[in-house]
Amino acid sequence: MRYQRSSALFDKAKRYIPGGVNSPVRAFNSVGGVPVFMKSAKGALLTDEDGNTYIDYINSWGPAILGHTHGSVLEAVQKQAEKGFSFGTPTELETEIAQLIISRVASIDSIRMVSSGTEACMSAIRLARGFTGREKIIKFEGCYHGHSDSFLISAGSGAATFGSPNSPGVTSGTAKDTFLARYNDTVQVEEIFRKSGEEIAAVILEPVAGNMGCVVPERGFMENLRALCTEYGTLLIFDEVMTGFRLAFGGAQEVLGVFADLVTYGKVIGGGLPVGAFAGRKEIMECLTPQGAVYQAGTLSGNPLAMRAGLATLQCILDDAAFYDRLERTTVTLKTEIGKIFQEKGISHVINQRGSMMSIFFDTNRVSNFDEASGANHALFNRFFHAMLNQGVYLPPSGYETWFISHAIGKNEIEKTLDAVRSF
Ligand SMILES: *Cc1c(COP(=O)(O)O)cnc(C)c1O
Repeated sequence: MRYQRSSALFDKAKRYIPGGVNSPVRAFNSVGGVPVFMKSAKGALLTDEDGNTYIDYINSWGPAILGHTHGSVLEAVQKQAEKGFSFGTPTELETEIAQLIISRVASIDSIRMVSSGTEACMSAIRLARGFTGREKIIKFEGCYHGHSDSFLISAGSGAATFGSPNSPGVTSGTAKDTFLARYNDTVQVEEIFRKSGEEIAAVILEPVAGNMGCVVPERGFMENLRALCTEYGTLLIFDEVMTGFRLAFGGAQEVLGVFADLVTYGKVIGGGLPVGAFAGRKEIMECLTPQGAVYQAGTLSGNPLAMRAGLATLQCILDDAAFYDRLERTTVTLKTEIGKIFQEKGISHVINQRGSMMSIFFDTNRVSNFDEASGANHALFNRFFHAMLNQGVYLPPSGYETWFISHAIGKNEIEKTLDAVRSF
């Protein structure tokens, strides 16, 4: 494939935008090479500025679960655009989407809209601190909750110690309030609770992780977290920015049968427009301004254009009783068939998958936490990525990311993808 225009556009972008991109993973730093500049997308396909087309396994990092530019979402957004983009006043639409979600997601009585997943997680932590009157939180290595200070933390020296900043600009004071734990390690979390449980406002995690590649919770891990949180009066926060409305309409909570005190959303909830949300039980959510004292606000929060895109997306999902079954079947087919090809060729690998999320890790047979994800052969993944890209299959440009299968991926797309894998 030729990437002349992408190449020129990237050179130009770098003159005006830090690193040429508005979000770092887009720069291909991890896989190397020049990022592909896209021009349009429809259904399962992306078209780049050089006219190349790709089967898309990122889908804008999750939001385009129906496939790109889905007819009914497009129509809803176009109709709303004529009525106005944003009023900065309450609208009926906001209640409509809130009601739709609350009536179908267990454990939440009240929901507030924001404009990104970062905002949702940052606000949920503040709310948990305000509600409990405590300052510490526990997060897990390899889980991503957006780029607010409390989450940009790396491990301190020993196990179960306070974190230290992993980005310049994050203060050590902030880092000291975040404990870092290992995903799927119940014993370590118990240790932190035994020592400091009374100070911990919240435990936040991705109930099925997607930001160290797809990593699935092991049996009992989530149940134990739930029990520990209940015992110590700590709020359990499920970051369902990725899993919400993706694994099931009720997200990971529905699939795992474990319920959080607060849930954060993003990605699918906005159908491709900038939306996030956080939700929970009434007595917790009541602590937010203007009802309570925990401050949180947003000029474009709940704006009608974004709400229309979200509502149309969620409605499409609900109108199709077999939606999640079909998505999962497509994903399992992809996983199984790719697995067979690698096995025939003697390529050691493991594919983690849950619902329509999956990741391939090379030269390993088990990835259940960040250390194990790091131990995979990422150099080989990077070669795999470029081989697939060159054959018109667009994978996440990093071995630490999840593939997001959309409803628009069908038999033909899978066949083309498997052909590409074979020739790799
Ligand atoms: C994408 C993501 C976020 C951040 O959302 P933004 O909209 O990019 O701010 C937070 N948590 C998880 C689990 C995510 O996947």
